[in-house]
Amino acid sequence: MKIQNYINGEFVNPISNNWIDNYNPSIGEVYGQIPNSSKEDVELAYQAASKAFPIWSNTTLDERHKILSKIADGIKNKLSFLAEAESKDNGKPLSLATAIDIPRASSNFQFFANAITQFSSEAHESVGLNAVNFTLRQPIGVVGCISPWNLPLYLFTWKIAPAIAAGNCVVAKPSEVTPMTAYLLGEICNEAGLPKGVLNIVHGLGGSTGQAIVEHPNIKAISFTGGTTTGAHIARVAAPMFKKLSLELGGKNPNLIFADCDYEKMLDTTVRSSFANQGQICLCGSRIFVEESIYEQFKKDFVQKVSQLKVGNPSEADANVGALVSKQHLEKVKSYIDIAEQEGGKILFGGDRVEVNGSEKGYYLQPTIIEVTSNDCKLNQEEIFGPVVTIMPFKNDEKALQLANNVKYGLSATLWTNNLNRTMRISKEIHAGIVWVNTWLLRDLRTPFGGQKESGVGREGGFEALRFFTEPKNVCIQYE
Ligand code: NAD
Repeated sequence: MKIQNYINGEFVNPISNNWIDNYNPSIGEVYGQIPNSSKEDVELAYQAASKAFPIWSNTTLDERHKILSKIADGIKNKLSFLAEAESKDNGKPLSLATAIDIPRASSNFQFFANAITQFSSEAHESVGLNAVNFTLRQPIGVVGCISPWNLPLYLFTWKIAPAIAAGNCVVAKPSEVTPMTAYLLGEICNEAGLPKGVLNIVHGLGGSTGQAIVEHPNIKAISFTGGTTTGAHIARVAAPMFKKLSLELGGKNPNLIFADCDYEKMLDTTVRSSFANQGQICLCGSRIFVEESIYEQFKKDFVQKVSQLKVGNPSEADANVGALVSKQHLEKVKSYIDIAEQEGGKILFGGDRVEVNGSEKGYYLQPTIIEVTSNDCKLNQEEIFGPVVTIMPFKNDEKALQLANNVKYGLSATLWTNNLNRTMRISKEIHAGIVWVNTWLLRDLRTPFGGQKESGVGREGGFEALRFFTEPKNVCIQYE
């Protein structure tokens, strides 16, 4: 199957007619091709977006609300079709794509369809000066959205929906590793009546297609989700052009487990926060720290629960852990397991590749638990982004906080405790953009989302996203 670019409401081949193979990770075979788009394809997408902007930016909020709601419905109506496509492209269990990824992509559009009608600007009266100020929130123009492979349609729409709701036109690039559902979104947008050129999707490699979007002098803002190294590179390229940037980057999130927690809930959730989507969620709790008094018990129970997870073909209903996204990624994750023992770690469970349906060709790996003796090892300092977690004990609150914060990332953190004072103290001190207490991955779309330190710059979610995708302009009127 050949995926095409979606430019000006039409599906088109790349100008150069260059293509890249696309793999199905669950069987390790090529199943399609995507455009290897060049600078010229990006230019074509930019021209379409630029032409659409004057009309789209003046479309009433009611009209935008209606079109975005129709896109949300279109995604919902194709739920099983899209979930199958996502699972095949990414390797994630079909059950996960059906329950989480695709419904969330629909909710992203519905949420911003509603949010834009509630997004109000500020007014200030300058008392004694006979002046009133108000703030216009104007769309930026043509903006770029670049997304990763781990939650393909979920994160792609998380950017596009607020961008177009705010009146911008978009040049977007999904990950070259998981292009399928972004491609299918084009048809849904046409059916919903999104005017031509408002959304343009170009497929291709990061270093060429993605880079061309970032380098384009008239694409005024870039919303990027991906790795920290790529984010730093994008920031360097964009800086001389003074582009507005939103960077959602990597994480190495602590999961702090205190003895006074609700143990069963913590145990079940920790299995999920460690291995959901094969551990390939930026919010996974990949460093588990456990209070000394329950450490041995936790170790035993956690290993036992994890040993019950079934690694299997993502299309099988009982598969808990699917395939990793690509051969290269599998090799990267495996390389961390290979250095565990050199670093003084002990593999408590997993560590090996798994054959599924008698074949070694799929990119499957056992969920892996490694006990480490120090927080300074590579396994605890670098983002592995796979089904690998480390565990280690801690003595007291102060030590737990120290371990949590001693890392260059600051995306999310999870606390398991029923002590209110501890909850408040640690929530204030911990380096994270999101702190979950006695839960994980519960998301209210109105709340800000993003990271501190090398996990990113800026926030998505709710009005934060609409603020990012608009330019505030103060108007000050003095009267007699
Ligand atoms: P990546 O940085 O390799 O790629 C992300 C996207 O950027 C892809 O579309 C890629 O083609 C593009 N890209 C690569 N080089 C580029 C360049 N020079 N210019 C412009 N675009 C370029 O990341 P990935 O491997 O796809 O995704 C995994 C990473 O994403 C992990 O680090 C993970 O933590 C992070 N992530 C973060 C969040 C978050 O919200 N903070 C969410 C999901 C994933």
